[in-house]
Amino acid sequence: MTIALPHQPAELDAVIFDYNGVIGLQPTVPMWSRLAELAGWPADQLGPFQNAFWSAREPYDSGQLDDADFWTAVLGHLPAPELLTQLRAVDTSLWTRTDDRVVALLHHAQRAGLPIVLLSNAPHPVSDALDASGWRTLMTDALYSARLGMNKPHPDIYRNALAATGASDPTRVLFVDDRADNCQAAAGLGLRTLHYTGSPTDIEAHLRLTTIAA
Ligand SMILES: [Mg+2]
Repeated sequence: MTIALPHQPAELDAVIFDYNGVIGLQPTVPMWSRLAELAGWPADQLGPFQNAFWSAREPYDSGQLDDADFWTAVLGHLPAPELLTQLRAVDTSLWTRTDDRVVALLHHAQRAGLPIVLLSNAPHPVSDALDASGWRTLMTDALYSARLGMNKPHPDIYRNALAATGASDPTRVLFVDDRADNCQAAAGLGLRTLHYTGSPTDIEAHLRLTTIAA
């Protein structure tokens, strides 16, 4: 039997994870190119396509824009229904690959009895896809910006996440995110934070999880 125990002085009651850039891998250039091509952008215009994509993403993430609104903003015109379906599917596929090393740490934390809550800026189609992922069952809850009607770093989104952990003391809850501004906002509410830069050992150190053969 293998158990995982939190070591001093972590004393964590729960952990809140960002998705993309922590659990989720960033899209590759070929993945971006496929989406840009589908959207009708010239092959040498990937940068401008990404600028258009990101310029409309925040209101899409927060649920202010629906799928048609978002892609109309990116393309400059409303796509035909079939193309809209394809764009939504390929866009979603950009965000569903995970880092196996981080997923393994989620398993460790879950076995240690640590409540895990996902807090992701994601539009509805990505939220639905993530909810259907196998690792989702490791989570106590998963909160998505489009469903909450607000994005990180809005302070209220962290209050929602903290409530979802069931923990009452934010200083005993770790928030992990790859964006510094998201971490700063969480720290402002008293949460312990890890600005993740791609090294799973940093998460492991913060969770202070050690497997002990018993
Ligand atoms: Mg992220």
